[in-house]
Amino acid sequence: MASHIVGYPRMGPKRELKFALESFWDGKSSAEDLKKVAADLRSSIWKQMASAGIKYIPSNTFSYYDQVLDTTAMLGAVPPRYGWAGGEIEFGTYFSMARGNASLPAMEMTKWFDTNYHFIVPELGPDIKFSYSSHKAVDEYKEAKALGIETVPVIIGPVSYLLLSKPAKGVEKSFPLLSLLDKILPVYKEVVSELKAAGASWIQFDEPTLVLDLEAEKLQAFTGAYAELESTLSGLNVLIETYFADLSADAYKTLTGLKGVTAFGFDFVRGTKTLDLVKSVGFPSGKYLFAGVVDGRNIWANDLTASLSTLAALEGTVGKDKLVVSTSCSLLHTAVDLVNETKLDDEIKSWLAFAAQKVVEVHALAKALAGQKDEGFFSANAAAQASRKSSPRVTNEAVQKAAAALKGSDHRRAANVSARLDAQQKKLNLPILPTTTIGSFPQTMDLRRVRREYKAKKITEEEYVKAIKEEISKVVKLQEELDIDVLVHGEPERNDMVEYFGEQLQGFAFTVNGWVQSYGSRCVKPPIIYGDVSRPKAMTVFWSSMAQSMTSRPMKGMLTGPVTILNWSFVRNDQPRFETCYQIALAIKDEVEDLEKAGIQVIQIDEAALREGLPLRKSEQAFYLEWAVHSFRITNCGVSDTTQIHTHMCYSNFNDIIHSIIDMDADVITIENSRSDEKLLSVFREGVKYGAGIGPGVYDIHSPRIPSTEEIADRINKMLAVLETNILWVNPDCGLKTRKYAEVNAALTNMVAAAKLLRSQL
Ligand code: GLN
Ligand code: ZN
Repeated sequence: MASHIVGYPRMGPKRELKFALESFWDGKSSAEDLKKVAADLRSSIWKQMASAGIKYIPSNTFSYYDQVLDTTAMLGAVPPRYGWAGGEIEFGTYFSMARGNASLPAMEMTKWFDTNYHFIVPELGPDIKFSYSSHKAVDEYKEAKALGIETVPVIIGPVSYLLLSKPAKGVEKSFPLLSLLDKILPVYKEVVSELKAAGASWIQFDEPTLVLDLEAEKLQAFTGAYAELESTLSGLNVLIETYFADLSADAYKTLTGLKGVTAFGFDFVRGTKTLDLVKSVGFPSGKYLFAGVVDGRNIWANDLTASLSTLAALEGTVGKDKLVVSTSCSLLHTAVDLVNETKLDDEIKSWLAFAAQKVVEVHALAKALAGQKDEGFFSANAAAQASRKSSPRVTNEAVQKAAAALKGSDHRRAANVSARLDAQQKKLNLPILPTTTIGSFPQTMDLRRVRREYKAKKITEEEYVKAIKEEISKVVKLQEELDIDVLVHGEPERNDMVEYFGEQLQGFAFTVNGWVQSYGSRCVKPPIIYGDVSRPKAMTVFWSSMAQSMTSRPMKGMLTGPVTILNWSFVRNDQPRFETCYQIALAIKDEVEDLEKAGIQVIQIDEAALREGLPLRKSEQAFYLEWAVHSFRITNCGVSDTTQIHTHMCYSNFNDIIHSIIDMDADVITIENSRSDEKLLSVFREGVKYGAGIGPGVYDIHSPRIPSTEEIADRINKMLAVLETNILWVNPDCGLKTRKYAEVNAALTNMVAAAKLLRSQL
C-alpha cells in the first residue's frame, strides 16, 4: 500500500521564503542568497516526506512565485512587452512578469479555483511561439535525486494550462485558447523526454480544470492531448491529478479513458460524490487510483477511521495493490507545521493537523491498509476525535437551538427597499449623489505600534483608548473638512476585518504561524472556527458611538458579515458550513441591533468574500447562494425601516450572481469597480432592475495614482446613463487602509468635488 502527497507549501514553517524573497526584491540580498534559502526549504521538505515513509514524493511543487507562472516560463510564453530575448528565463524576467518593474505593470493575477491562492494568468494569442525555456522541473527532480530521494515531478497539465489562460491584449476575446494545444505539446514532450532521461519513473500532471463543468469539446481536448503525448509518455507511470471538487460523470469517463495514463487522482473530501462515481461507473482495471482522503484545504486532524472505511470501499473496485493514499489537493492551502504553535492549548492542538502532520496521517493510513496499523497512532487519533465531539468548548446548546430554528424560515425586513429608503432619507437628509468611504483609513506605523503594544500589555487600556480616540477624531475631522456626507470611524482598532471579530467571538482560535500563501510572498493567517459561535458582548458599539458623538453627520457602524467571516476562516468540518454561517449571522445580528440601540443610523455589513465562496460545481451553487444570502439577511432583518443597511463587496464580476445580490436586500451596496465600468454597467443595461442604493467605486484604491475630478465626474456620468440618479452613491472602490494620507486627501478631495460638480448640473 503506497502513499502520495499532491503538493506541499513552499513558504516554510516560519515564512522563510517570504523573507528571502522580500529581501532580494529590496536589493538587500543576492540571487544566490535567495536560491540557497529555496534549496534548503526544498531539501528539508523532501527529507521530511521521505522519513515519514511517503512513497510518491512530489518535486517541482516549489515555486519562487507561482506554479502557473512557472509553467509559462517552461513554455517560454513571456508576453513580448517584458523584452525577454530568449534563453533560460532568469529572475529578472520572471519577477517582472510576477510583480511588474519600474516601467511595466505585472501580469494579471486571479484566484486559483475557489481558494484564496492567486495565480498569474497566462496571456496567449495566435502568434505566440513556445520554446522550452525553464528547466525547473528537471532541475528539481535531479536536485532531489542527488539527495538520494526519488520524486514524482509535478507539472500543470497542458489542457488546464490553456483553460486557465486568457487572450493577450489586442487578441480577440473569442480566440480559442485550446487551438494552441498543438503548439505547446512539443514543449511538454521535450520536458517529459528530459525527465525520462534523468531517470524519472513517474510524472504527475495536474489537471484540476476537469472538476469544472466543461463542455464536450473541452473534454475532447484532454483526449486529444494525451493521445498526442502517449508515445513520449510510454515507459513512464503517468498520474493525472484532479482536486477541489468531484467530477461530472462525463469528465470522469473522459479522464479514466485517457491514453498513456496509468493513474488518476481524486479529491474525496470536497468531492463528496467521487466515491459513488467510482463505484457506479467503475474504474479501469490495472490502473492506479490516488485517493485524496486527507484534507489539503483545512487544518483538522483526519478522522482516520472514516478515511479507512472510504479506502476499504475503494479497495473492492480498484484492487488493493492499485490504491494509493493521498491528500485531497496540494497542501499549499493549509498551514505548514503545528509544531510551531506555541499559543494554542493542548486540547485544541490535539484536534489539528497542518501540512507536516498530514504527511504523517497519509502514511499511517497507507500502512493500516497494508495490514500494519499503528495502533497507538490510531487510538490517539480516535481519542482526539472523541474529545472534539464531546468537548463543552465545541458545543453550546443554546446556539445550536437558535441556529437550527433558522433553517427553512425566511428573514426579511418588513417594508420593501423603496419604502425604507424614503423613511431613511427623511431622517438622514442626504444630498443626491451622497459621498462616503468604505471603512478603513490609512493604517500608519504608529497605529500598528499602538495596537501591538496594547496586545503585549506594554501600554494600559486607558492609554490605548486615548490613542485610538485621537485617531478617530482626526479621521472624523478630516472627513468633515472634505465635506463627505456619510462618515466612517476609520477602523484604527482593527488589524484585520475577520480577526477583529473572531477575537471577540466564542468558538474561534488563533495561530501564531498558521500562514497560508495568498500570492507571491503574501500570506494570510485564517482564524480557526472550532466551536459554536456566540457573542459574549458588544464588539464595536464602544468605538462607533464614540465616533458618532464627535460629529452631527451620520457615522456608519462597520461590521464584517457572516459569509465573509466564514469564507476567510478555517471552518469546522463536523457540521455543514451553512450551520456555522447561521451561528455567525446570529452573533452579528445582536451586534447590529446593539448599534441601532446606541443611535447608529447607518450600518455597513461587509460581505467582501461572498462571491469567492461560490462552489465550483454549478449543481452546488444555488444552494450556497441561498444560505449565504439568507445569512446576510438574518443579520439585519430586525432593524427598523429608518436604519440604513449598507454592504460592500470586493469584486466587480458579479454579473452571474446579481439576482442573489439583489436578494440580500441591503439598502445600499458599494462595490469594487476599479478595472472597468463596462462589466458592471452591462448588467443594468441589460435591464436588471435595481432599486436599492448603489455605489460602484469611482476610483481604484489599489494604486497610488490620484484620479482627477474630471476623470471621476466622467465615470459617474457613465453610471448615471444607466442608473437612476437617486440611487447612485459616490465612493472609492474599497477601504483606504493601504494608502498614505497624502494620497487619500488628494483623491477624496477630487471625489467630493466631482460629486458636487454633477449635483450642480442635475
Ligand atoms: N470595511 C473594510 C475596509 O474598509 C472593507 C475591506 C474590504 O472590503 N476588503 O477596510
Ligand atoms: Zn473591498
